[in-house]
Amino acid sequence: MLLESLLSLLRESATLTRQIQHDFITPTTWEKKDKSPVTVGDLAVQTLMAARLEQLCPEIPLVAEESTEVLESDEGERFGEILRRYLEPFLGKFTRENMVHWIARGKEGTGTSRFWTLDPIDGTKGFLRREQYATALALVEENRVTMGFLGLPNYTQGENLVHAVRGKGTWANDLWKPGEWKACHVSEHRDVQEATVLRSVESGHTNLSQMDILVRNLGVVREPVRMDSQAKYAVLASGKSDFLFRLISAKQPHYKEKIWDQAAGSIILEEAGGKVTDLDGKDLDFSHGETLEENRGICASNGILHNIALDAIIETGC
Ligand code: AMP
Ligand code: MG
Repeated sequence: MLLESLLSLLRESATLTRQIQHDFITPTTWEKKDKSPVTVGDLAVQTLMAARLEQLCPEIPLVAEESTEVLESDEGERFGEILRRYLEPFLGKFTRENMVHWIARGKEGTGTSRFWTLDPIDGTKGFLRREQYATALALVEENRVTMGFLGLPNYTQGENLVHAVRGKGTWANDLWKPGEWKACHVSEHRDVQEATVLRSVESGHTNLSQMDILVRNLGVVREPVRMDSQAKYAVLASGKSDFLFRLISAKQPHYKEKIWDQAAGSIILEEAGGKVTDLDGKDLDFSHGETLEENRGICASNGILHNIALDAIIETGC
């Protein structure tokens, strides 16, 4: 069964990232061209997932965050050897060409109508701080997310393996000790007084001054909860919070969300009864390659309170 194999893959990836996180004293980190960090964890998970997905469904291409940029740099040899050490217990012996091929698969799926999208470690900065991060995998078919998976190795407040299939609900389990699957449902809060807001930890990924005004205009009395990665979507889907906002950073006013940062989380929230749109109330449009080119930021909620959130966004001028 494909679903079972994919869930095993999420568990394997969590074992891999936990091992890497356990080992690092000084994390093995490189800076990408866009100045964001990439760790051995990001590339190890992308290699493992790309290799396994190629075996499982060779006909479906992949759109993933990482590229072979680091492997081609001056430090590429050293990086490659560290990756090999972590990956051989999972993949057996492989060549450098195999590794380059698997990682490069992540840049081959754009422009197709059916593809996987993967963020091997979403929230790399959270991973480096040993806080929240997610391995996020989703299937996009005809511009629509049809399946989504989130593995949340550092999440301890509830189930940390969550998945959704379109029309079949959102389900959660334990990454480390498989047990009964539990159905996820968003909160039933109708009153903003009871509600909480989720936001990024990284101030550069949102707009902090606008966030304060938005929360006030909404009438939410509690302080926003800061959390890295799509773990935020899993928290919303399980009814432990009510809103998630990604406002536009003043430093990057033209920033467009990456599809791998929203695909898995969005179906997991929708199948749990919630709603996700952009800040203008538009549905997310996954038909423009690597980014949500036609959308602006993100507004996600338990559904019941969505229109109230969109009104407050207009009032705040986000
Ligand atoms: P979070 O964990 O909520 O901080 O979101 C992490 C994701 O934010 C990363 O995977 C990045 O792709 C993405 N990101 C990077 N720069 C920005 C930005 N200026 N605005 C919004 N998201 C960003
Ligand atoms: Mg990400």
